[in-house]
Amino acid sequence: MQRSPVVTIMGHVDHGKTLLLDAIRNTRVVEGEAGGITQHIGAYKIKAKNGEITFIDTPGHSAFTAMRARGAKVTDIVVLVVAADDGIMPQTIEAINHAKASGVPIIVAINKIDLPSSNPDKIRQQVANHGLIDEKWGGDTIFCEVSAKEKRGLDNLLEMILLQAEMLSLSYNPKNKGWGTIIESRIDKGLGPVGTIIVQDGVLKIRDTFAVSSNIGRVRAMIDDIGRRLNEASAGTPVEVLGFSTLPEAGERLFVISKEEADIILKEKKEPQMSFEKPKISLEELFKKIEEGEVKELPLIIRTDVSGTCEALCSSLKELPLNNVSIKILHSGCGGILEQDIMFAKAANGIIIGFHIKPSASIKALAEKEGVKIYTYDIIYEAIEEIEKAALGLLAPKVELKGIGRAIVKKVFKIEKKLIAGCFVEGGKIEQGAKVKIIRGGEPIIETSITSLKRFKEDVPFVKAGVECGIGIPYSDIKEGDVLEAFVAIKEEKS
Ligand code: GDP
Repeated sequence: MQRSPVVTIMGHVDHGKTLLLDAIRNTRVVEGEAGGITQHIGAYKIKAKNGEITFIDTPGHSAFTAMRARGAKVTDIVVLVVAADDGIMPQTIEAINHAKASGVPIIVAINKIDLPSSNPDKIRQQVANHGLIDEKWGGDTIFCEVSAKEKRGLDNLLEMILLQAEMLSLSYNPKNKGWGTIIESRIDKGLGPVGTIIVQDGVLKIRDTFAVSSNIGRVRAMIDDIGRRLNEASAGTPVEVLGFSTLPEAGERLFVISKEEADIILKEKKEPQMSFEKPKISLEELFKKIEEGEVKELPLIIRTDVSGTCEALCSSLKELPLNNVSIKILHSGCGGILEQDIMFAKAANGIIIGFHIKPSASIKALAEKEGVKIYTYDIIYEAIEEIEKAALGLLAPKVELKGIGRAIVKKVFKIEKKLIAGCFVEGGKIEQGAKVKIIRGGEPIIETSITSLKRFKEDVPFVKAGVECGIGIPYSDIKEGDVLEAFVAIKEEKS
């Protein structure tokens, strides 16, 4: 069945993201679609002429990148707001980079067209310079002209979102058990931990037992964005859920599980747990991976004091001869290191290079928490020298790998252009998001990560030995008979 698209609004500060979100929301309420009182639950769903759309209520990149950093993909479409009287600004470019990096289509909303100084075609030209060309100009990006203030062009924008969604053919299976992603959470004095989830497949039902990480909960109540109590929430719907045993974090996945699965999790909780956190990546590790041929790109975020140095550093780094490895600059700009840089680096497994700038204490703490490495330099050749040193393996840290399970590929098939390995789990267990080594004829061929894990079309948090499952693998040459060894990496920090 078709599901409604989930949209995040991004753009530079003051370009009208908040007002646009409010305007869209109010249009619906004014139209008297339901008698409820709007509640802030982190997202809301509206009814447009030709369908429904869910909007994430926090505009900007931080929520988006925080999600992506956890491997969660909630947003189907990004609406990029650009003020018609201002034009492309640093955060506009960041938003474009974030959306592109995660493969989410962008619709450009040129806002504030009510202002006499607005110049929509100038914006089209500027945005085109960043690779987003209006359909009218022969490109493939949808542009809409709006005024959030005067509520102009909103219907057209909603229509275009639905048109874009149609091209994405977003669907869900109502027979599947529900799963979704936490987008916001809080502790309510009376109710305890409360989390908003966007259901992404199946139907979440009242009294369903669920797992978030290894914590089990039960849906005690579900409340939608207009305060209605729901018994069921289907894919695409944002709902506030009561019944968590601990406070869930934004970006974590919620899976409906069976009683047997709940028992296994409870049993495992009593036993010592291994961490399944993605291994933290550092410059040294990255180069180790490069040396091993696993990584062909070095993703960097570069922040410098002035833009001239930024360009100089970027071009010097790009010219480094690194065994055919390309340096991929995810984002570069001048000014301090920002929270979203860390989340972006985490999401892309990249590192941050700061030049002539020092991260603030809070940024340092956040980087530490998220496991993102920041390298700061004051002299260009030092930056380059260190990267070369790392490339020579002088700084290679010890990485201990712990196997968690083993599966054999029985059949390979393609679903929606993604490769799925139909597997039988021979030993241990296979976990969502775990790393896997692909072994053929006793020889390891490549190391990669599991992108999805399903049983009978349903996403599951893990699969135990003796069970068949479908494992999404981003490796086009996977073959029947290959063995997948799932593992976690535990790094020993070098002091
Ligand atoms: P955000 O920082 O992107 O969330 O921007 P806001 O929604 O807070 O808007 C910034 C300012 O621009 C506010 O003073 C808004 O009233 C104003 N604004 C937003 N949209 C429009 C618009 O369509 N026309 C005009 N004239 N002003 C707008």
